[in-house]
Amino acid sequence: MFDNLSDKLELTLKKLAGQATINEVNIGIAMRDIKRALLSADVNYKVAKKLVEDIREKSLGESVIKSVSPAQMIVKIVNDELTEIMGGQNQPLNLPPKKIPAIVMVAGLQGSGKTTFCAKLAKRLKKNGKNPILVAADVYRPAAVEQLKTLGEQIDVPVFSIEEQDAMKAALGGLEAAKAGAKDVVIVDTAGRLQIDEAMMAEAEALKNRLSPDELLFVVDSMMGQEAVNTAKAFNDRLDFDGVVLTKLDGDARGGAALSIRQVVEKPIKFMSVGEKVDDLDVFYPDRMAQRILG
Ligand code: GDP
Repeated sequence: MFDNLSDKLELTLKKLAGQATINEVNIGIAMRDIKRALLSADVNYKVAKKLVEDIREKSLGESVIKSVSPAQMIVKIVNDELTEIMGGQNQPLNLPPKKIPAIVMVAGLQGSGKTTFCAKLAKRLKKNGKNPILVAADVYRPAAVEQLKTLGEQIDVPVFSIEEQDAMKAALGGLEAAKAGAKDVVIVDTAGRLQIDEAMMAEAEALKNRLSPDELLFVVDSMMGQEAVNTAKAFNDRLDFDGVVLTKLDGDARGGAALSIRQVVEKPIKFMSVGEKVDDLDVFYPDRMAQRILG
């Protein structure tokens, strides 16, 4: 374990300092440390292995700029590669300006931070001049509906809900309410379960087919580590979502889930949630996450 990959590599490669190129010897040593760094940041083993091989190929023969050491050079190559893999730049929410209301559907396991995210997104959109409405389609847990209502009050955004346990009815009702109330974005919070199950997936799929959301976002808890990737894959196989929201990044998760998810499902991570409060939401910046992963 080590805290800073750059310092650690500096130390390991010290005896090789002065070499003008990245060669088999120093890259071999560096890659071992980089793989360890990736694994300790919870990057999926297969993803880490492939990455290290790719980076080795790319780095070999690169001449080292005079002002930096081979260690710094290698860390820069790794950093750039991770940033690139995670999409290079932030990928914004893709809401068609002329479609009113635009629809955002949010799916994920129970406890992932879905409901909180819906409110955070509503607040963000409102700040950007939108006029959103929240829809409680997580109809099976009265606590979830109450939670959304409380959050809606906090941010002064209306929440549409119904008494019956009928997610489709709630979602379609929410859409009607949006039209009647001249709302321009509908955010639909759907039901999650503690684990992936058929009923949840079938319901989410039916909602997707019926609503044709402009953005279907999958919310996942970054603290789940390796499990986050399996969950993302299962949701994507079934729902073919548009983007990912990584939550609980205020915790000590190093963020490897971001890299693995991006590699495995090939969908952009759009937002990161960094706390329980309604303002604790950031857009996702691949370069910042690369630095966090490398430590
Ligand atoms: P849902 O079941 O997926 O709708 O999840 P909730 O939105 O109810 O969130 C589950 C718990 O995680 C709640 O206690 C939230 O306050 C908390 N939570 C959500 N997002 C974050 C986050 O980014 N950081 C932290 N620390 N807690 C979060």
